[in-house]
Amino acid sequence: MSSPTPERRRILVVDDNPAIHQDFRKILTVPEGLDELEAMESVLFGSGRVRSRALDFELDSAMSGEESVRRVKAAVEEGRPYAVIFMDIRMPPGIDGVEATLRLWREDADVQVVLCSAYSDYSWDELSRKLGSSERLLILRKPFDNIEVRQMAHSLCEKWELLRQSHRRMDDLERAVEERTRALAEANMRLMRAQKLEALGRMSAGLAHEVNNPLSYVLSNLRHVQMGLEKLLCTQEAQREGEDLREACRDAVFGAERIARIVQDVRLFARLDEPAKEPVDVREVVEHAVSLAGTTLRPGIRVVRDFQEIPRVLGNDVGLGQVFLNLIVNAAHALEGRSEPCIRLGLARCADGRVAVEVQDNGCGISPEHLGRLFEPFFTTKPVGMGTGLGLSICHGIVTRLGGDITVDTVSGQGTTFRVLLTPASGEALEPDAPERKLSA
Ligand code: ADP
Repeated sequence: MSSPTPERRRILVVDDNPAIHQDFRKILTVPEGLDELEAMESVLFGSGRVRSRALDFELDSAMSGEESVRRVKAAVEEGRPYAVIFMDIRMPPGIDGVEATLRLWREDADVQVVLCSAYSDYSWDELSRKLGSSERLLILRKPFDNIEVRQMAHSLCEKWELLRQSHRRMDDLERAVEERTRALAEANMRLMRAQKLEALGRMSAGLAHEVNNPLSYVLSNLRHVQMGLEKLLCTQEAQREGEDLREACRDAVFGAERIARIVQDVRLFARLDEPAKEPVDVREVVEHAVSLAGTTLRPGIRVVRDFQEIPRVLGNDVGLGQVFLNLIVNAAHALEGRSEPCIRLGLARCADGRVAVEVQDNGCGISPEHLGRLFEPFFTTKPVGMGTGLGLSICHGIVTRLGGDITVDTVSGQGTTFRVLLTPASGEALEPDAPERKLSA
């Protein structure tokens, strides 16, 4: 198999005199057919004299400064830029070589320029003032020494190639730095969220603990009063008079029971009731959560199951049941007023062997300004009395305590997918052979 021919370096000669172009062509290119002749000679006479292909540049000509700028621009656009330009200084009536160099460097900052002149049109100082002290510039006095031109072409092409390599390396480096910075910012955000939730957890634990005791007196005393009242108000007259009291008592019990439920949620969030971990059949727990969601899943909502074979996971069915129930209830709420409401429940194995449980809805979606606050306790967009804002923070707490993760994908106005990632129970890990699958929207 022959090795690929290396890309030939492109050189542009700019001069208003056609004879100069021919000179350059003789110096810098291998005449057509010479290669084959030399190869034949080498085979026949064993001379070993095959001229190096490195001599063979791709040469282009421009007859004026303006044309050179156009050619440089086109070469950049084609993705085949010139490496070196041999530029005559005097080219009346158009722009001179110095002006042309200034303009073409705006099109291609890397191209190496050799200014050719028989006269001392510009002093080096003047050139430096006009073009800046540039490392991309050399001066060549006419008449040329062929060897000098060849050496210049070679070493400038080499320099140009090294420059391009270092640019490519810088680009790669910049991309790597950007990627690292992004990953770091993400990790930082996750850490801050975890710390914030941790602090809120400690505070909630204290609060729940403090509220729980007095609340249980209030509730049990209220229930006692309620029962006492029922006995006292057994006559019709007493019942009429005591109706107000009875109603006040019922309201108080209702309110206190609601507080008790909130405290129970806070306890869950604050890790006060940590159940033991055991292998759990997720499919069963999801089905149980669907039946618990009961009437929240009004008949109009289509529930689609997209279940793959999955191993049992490490967790506990009460905690995980709570997670799936919260997610399903939230999905059902998000579907209110939507046409063709649908919830997809997905069970799948990820490429890394973990189990993914997805609860997806085609509901209202979550706006970007709410997305960052979803897992904060007491964050809710629901009307007062409808939501406590504890559901997702509890889900987050339960799942992360099991060593899992919970993520969300949402498109405002189109729907949301919550994804719970769980670790298989030991000895249960199926081979992670199937490619990771995500439920389609
Ligand atoms: P709550 O349901 O009591 O408001 P959660 O912590 O469960 O508390 O949810 C917090 C907020 O997240 C909700 O008020 C709602 O704005 C948003 N949310 C949760 N799930 C969804 C969903 N599937 N679609 C749209 N918004 C959601």
